[in-house]
Amino acid sequence: MNMPTEHKLDTVSLYINGQRAAASGTRYGDVTNPATGAIIRQVPFCTAADIDAAVRAATAALPEWSAWPAVRRSRVLQKFLQLLQANAKELAGLITEENGKTFADALGEVQRGSEVVEFACGIPQLLKGEYSENVGPGVDCHTLRQSVGVCAGITPFNFPVMVPLWMLPVAIACGNTFILKPSEKDPSPALRMAELLKEAGLPDGVFNVVHGDKEAVDAILAHPGISAVSFVGSTPIARYIYETGAKHGKRVQALGGAKNHMVVLPDADVDYAADAVIGAAYGAAGERCMAISVVVAVGDVADALVQTIRHKARKVRVGPGMQEGVDMGPLVTCAHRDKVAGYIESGVAEGATLALDGRGVSIPGHDQGFFLGTTLFDHVTPQMKIYREEIFGPVLSVVRVETLEAAIDLVNAQAFANGAAIFTSSGGAARRFEEEVQIGMVGVNVPIPVPLAFYSFGGWKNSLFGDLHVHGVEAVKFYTRTKAVTTRWPNQSTPKPSFSMPVLG
Ligand code: NAD
Repeated sequence: MNMPTEHKLDTVSLYINGQRAAASGTRYGDVTNPATGAIIRQVPFCTAADIDAAVRAATAALPEWSAWPAVRRSRVLQKFLQLLQANAKELAGLITEENGKTFADALGEVQRGSEVVEFACGIPQLLKGEYSENVGPGVDCHTLRQSVGVCAGITPFNFPVMVPLWMLPVAIACGNTFILKPSEKDPSPALRMAELLKEAGLPDGVFNVVHGDKEAVDAILAHPGISAVSFVGSTPIARYIYETGAKHGKRVQALGGAKNHMVVLPDADVDYAADAVIGAAYGAAGERCMAISVVVAVGDVADALVQTIRHKARKVRVGPGMQEGVDMGPLVTCAHRDKVAGYIESGVAEGATLALDGRGVSIPGHDQGFFLGTTLFDHVTPQMKIYREEIFGPVLSVVRVETLEAAIDLVNAQAFANGAAIFTSSGGAARRFEEEVQIGMVGVNVPIPVPLAFYSFGGWKNSLFGDLHVHGVEAVKFYTRTKAVTTRWPNQSTPKPSFSMPVLG
């Protein structure tokens, strides 16, 4: 964070009431290109006045938008889906430029986000209520699902397109208006999506983008005009958002951090499991909430497994995300790269075996980029900091245990509970694992079990504060309020209204 600099860098705009807007404050953040280390633009940090301007636009747009027939709202989303596909390369380029992940991975991100738009296009079906005839003599009952009002989304740096798309398509399909505060580290793709939504026919004010840090987030949490807040980010902030939003009377879903374990049993195909873990641990430089950060090697599979993972991890090609043939890009910021490198030092100091050290990797022509190579620790114990804390980088820990029971106990003892996977050829072992792990999303021979858009996504324990997951039918529940209507049309045979509690049926 710093003041505007002398050299004129582009400033990322806000997007309010269908147009780009400038922020009112004086604080700005630097947006860097992680592959080069260069500051490429600045992002304004919004004040409470900017948040209020966005809320006023979203409030003004709400009555008309929520009254549109669901099928008409769906048509806007269908057009948006086409535009996302037509502009996927541009969006992916922006992701790679500000986040660092490879272009292929960024294209995959746009695709996975688009799938939520596809799901939201079915909103007329999803909003259907219930109806019961004759719940009493001449009395019928039905339910409506109505919009919640102005909703806000606060999102992390690691999926600047996909995570906003976990929220906004379902929110607006349900008739709400929406304010997005993307990560200040990679804010530009959100703005491009706002323009595509307008091009798709979305009325002004239905979708707005603000930027900033804690000041902007606190203004969102305290604003009486915002009814619901969706958050995705780290656990301490998720807990804060949940508690503060609830204190202000808002509906909140707050998804937090993760420490995803992959249990490998002795009967697993070692080569297959090692291939799976390479992508799951080092893809997007480990900056995925569903990344595998711990392998639990059960029994005598450990030596062969560690050796195979090490062999494959050394072959991962590190470099700038736009370069052909690169598997893994840089980390998002210099500070984050240094923090992850600090965890490697800590693991060594605490006595874990450093089987592969990613520090000191150098990429010709990109000396200032935020790179770190693939790192592998063996003989990690649950007491070590590298085991207990979320590292969010290309650092994989191997913990050795003797039995499946011990592996399940280990998974269940941790505070995070986003995802977990088991690799085995035993149906019985897989079934036991599936039944006993206290985890939101489980994979059987699938390392990153991310549910598709028509299922809901979310963890347990410190990985999710709130009751409802994102996307899928749980999102429709989050972004709507149920209204139950009881109806009687009196005629001559209808009993007269009674003075005491009526006995129906
Ligand atoms: P973060 O918590 O630092 O930031 C997330 C959002 O909160 C950003 O918009 C940021 O501006 C805002 N924020 C940061 N500090 C704040 C504060 N003190 N008060 C109010 N708001 C604040 O997370 P990040 O580093 O951007 O993203 C990485 C984290 O997100 C990891 O922990 C990862 O596991 C998690 N994540 C979780 C999921 C999931 O589905 N559970 C998905 C993606 C990322």
